[in-house]
Order: sequence, then C-alpha cells, then structure tokens
Amino acid sequence: MASVRSESELRTDIVELGRRLWARGFVASNDGNISVRLDGDRILTTPTGVSKGFMTTDMMVITDRTGRKISGERNASSELKMHLAVYDLRPDVQAVVHSHPPLATGFAVAGIPLDKAVLAEVICTLGCIPIADYATPSTAELPAAVAQYIKAHDGLLLANHGALTVGSDLFNAYYKMETVEHFAQISLVARTLGGERLLSRDEVHRLQGLRDMYGITSPAPAAPVSSVQIGAGDVMP
Ligand SMILES: [Zn+2]
Repeated sequence: MASVRSESELRTDIVELGRRLWARGFVASNDGNISVRLDGDRILTTPTGVSKGFMTTDMMVITDRTGRKISGERNASSELKMHLAVYDLRPDVQAVVHSHPPLATGFAVAGIPLDKAVLAEVICTLGCIPIADYATPSTAELPAAVAQYIKAHDGLLLANHGALTVGSDLFNAYYKMETVEHFAQISLVARTLGGERLLSRDEVHRLQGLRDMYGITSPAPAAPVSSVQIGAGDVMP
C-alpha cells in the first residue's frame, strides 16, 4: 500500500514508472502524468513540460486536493484535474496513471471499447475498459467525462486521447496501464486474424466468481451472445 511508503520512496517510484512509460513507448515528448496520494489532502505528482522518461525525484510537485501547488519548483500538469476528480470519487484509489499507449489509444480513436470477454486475466483484474467521451485535454470537461465511468472501472480509454488507470498504489495503477495496452495489442492481432473468439458465458461467470473472491468490483467484460437468451441486464455497459 502506498500509505506505508515514505514520500521519498514515492518520488523514487514515480521516477521509475515514468521511465517505464517512456521506455515502452506509452508516451511521446512530454506526454503523460502520474500521481499518488500523500498523507491527508496532499497529492504528489509529475511536473509538466518534462519527458517522463528522464525525471528526477526533485522535479515532483505537491498540490492540495484542488490542484493548488504547495511545494515544488515546477508546475503540475493541467491534466492533474482528471486525477483529482478520480481521488474525489474513489476514496479507495491511491494512485493514478495517464498515458497515450499507441494501440489502446488507437482503439480510443477508432471508438472501439475493450469490452469483449477474451482474456481470463483481464476479466479477473480489470474488467471491461470503456471509452470516456471526448473532452478537450486540460479543460473541466475531461474530469467530467472521466467521472462518468471511474466509479465502476479501474481502467478507461479516453476518446481521441489516451488511457487512464487507477490503483491501490503506484505500481498497481501502472501495471493496469500495461494490461490495457497488452489487451489492445492482443485484440488488434485477433481482429487482424479474423476476429476474437469470446469466452463462454459460463466461463465469464466462473471468472466473475474469482473477482468476487478477490473483492474486485468493476464490471466484467460483456459475455458473448450465444444460444442462451440474454437479458438486457446481462450486457455490460
Ligand atoms: Zn494526455
């Protein structure tokens, strides 16, 4: 849990995760941002205008829950508003990662959500990944678009923009970003090869049981329409 890590350790974690985002090509130029809750109402976050692959621990910014800077020589990203909306709506979330991984962002640009039941691990950990409506980055519209989905999902695509993942600590949120991109990559290959073969409704329900056991609350991907009559309530949003 993030709460047991010191501020100094969290700064080191953010530097490491920024390096991974950049190394994996999830960000270009100065894109992307990472944040984590500190004690009380303070948020530790990445600076704007810096490549996330080459940050140092002293570059981080500390803000309050409204985004007002408390300390740091640099300024926080204007996209921090989106992170703050998540912290307001999800008391369980300790960390937020935003990036533009190219395959997941391709799905977001094409308007195709990652909501098919194809990979057991994704069903168990992340559930379905919807697309939040397009909103101009850095405006108040973007937090509003995210707010619509974040209560029930730990990973979102942002239409014509990128992806957002949240978690119980920095690494948990970051690993979900890797899973989103991996899922997009596999989905693209499957579509190139003729389309995904979906898991059965029975298997999705079995996996849903594992999710319940682990206390995961975000909805599972949609089960395929089969010979079984599916009620409206069975189809995930
Ligand atoms: Zn962005």
